[in-house]
Amino acid sequence: MNFQIRNYRKSVAAVAFLLLFPLLYLSQTYSVQNVHMVLPTRRNKTFDVCIVGAGLSGAVIAERYAAVKNKYVLVVEKRNHIGGNCYDFIDNETNIRVSKYGAHLFHTKYKDVWEYVQMFSEWVPYEHKVLAFVDGKHIPIPVNINTVNSLFDMDIKSIEDMDAWLKKEQIQYKHEPLNSEEMALSRVGLKLYKLLFRPYTIKQWNKTPTELGPTVLARIPVRNNWDDRYFSDQYQALPKRGYTNLIKNMLKSPQITVRLNVDYFDVRYKIECGKTYFSGPIDRFYEKKGLPKLEYRSLSFERKVLKNMDHFQPASVVNHPSLKDNFTRIVEYKWLPNQEFRSNDTSIVYERSTADGEPYYPVPNERNQNLYKRYKTFANSDPDIYFLGRLANYKYFNMDEAIKNALEMFYKTVND
Ligand code: UDP
Repeated sequence: MNFQIRNYRKSVAAVAFLLLFPLLYLSQTYSVQNVHMVLPTRRNKTFDVCIVGAGLSGAVIAERYAAVKNKYVLVVEKRNHIGGNCYDFIDNETNIRVSKYGAHLFHTKYKDVWEYVQMFSEWVPYEHKVLAFVDGKHIPIPVNINTVNSLFDMDIKSIEDMDAWLKKEQIQYKHEPLNSEEMALSRVGLKLYKLLFRPYTIKQWNKTPTELGPTVLARIPVRNNWDDRYFSDQYQALPKRGYTNLIKNMLKSPQITVRLNVDYFDVRYKIECGKTYFSGPIDRFYEKKGLPKLEYRSLSFERKVLKNMDHFQPASVVNHPSLKDNFTRIVEYKWLPNQEFRSNDTSIVYERSTADGEPYYPVPNERNQNLYKRYKTFANSDPDIYFLGRLANYKYFNMDEAIKNALEMFYKTVND
């Protein structure tokens, strides 16, 4: 009798476990209203549009097809959360909103992009500022009058004087800068290049700036005034409730189904899609073609919680260009104004660049650009698949450029 009861209990426990396991599993994933555990199929088993990747680019395409065309959209995402590299969350230990994959600061000069993002979130105005820690001092980046005064113990007091100083330092080339070293030397000269840009770039890319196209160091402006903002775009802000919430709102139409923890390459022959938009690495998509792999830089993050500390450093991002430090920057999210809660603690994240790991940055140089062009020829002859975003276009897009690219792609391909 006892034996039977024990067996009965065991069976009940087993059934309960089998029923509950999917729910427990689901509760660990980020859930938007319509995340499914089983690969969903519509009655006729087809989706109008399938999107690979639930990051910013994929979310724009999904949102547009649902909102403008009333289409049924399936988004498959390999990770256990939406948002791609913009994913942020409130850290339980400190109550501070942090970004899992590095700080994301939204800025754009494009009015249409700015208006588009207004539909999905309130925004907190925020002009990002960065400091670099050099020779025991915190100095502003990008280079401005205060940077030069502080580093070289000078007393430049006017724009004209700064122009004259820069002119003396800058190296003039007869041609357009051919690589990032020439770009930096033509803008700031040797002294600043050696202190701020060369070592940082070596740590970030594991290449000297001569081995990188000029676009990398063209990202950082040089100012002849006191403007210490990192970006000079007209619109600069952070989503009030974070990027994950922004992207969740983009995906919230009942026409959109999001499936997390699904590698597209495991399911591509099981889903029927009118069209497919792919936002992963283009060389992964065409890996069977036998070309060499494209090169990407990845990042690793080391988080430290500092209890009962107001702030650790004087700004949200402090760059560490020196080769003596084995990290590139420290991010302290508590400084960002889209925090929802007060915290007695702070947390800091050391950022290091790595060759292996999730691809973050395409590496812009001639070899990779030429290789990308060869991948692109495959893409051009594939009629029902479109490539979007940083990894598929192999381009160092900022967030606004990713949105712009996806919007343009939508309007260009919607009637194909
Ligand atoms: N960079 C540098 N010193 C700095 C900041 C940036 O040399 O203090 C160079 C470095 O090569 C870096 C590039 O400029 O990869 C672009 O910097 P950005 O801050 O735009 O990088 P991201 O935020 O995209 O990682």
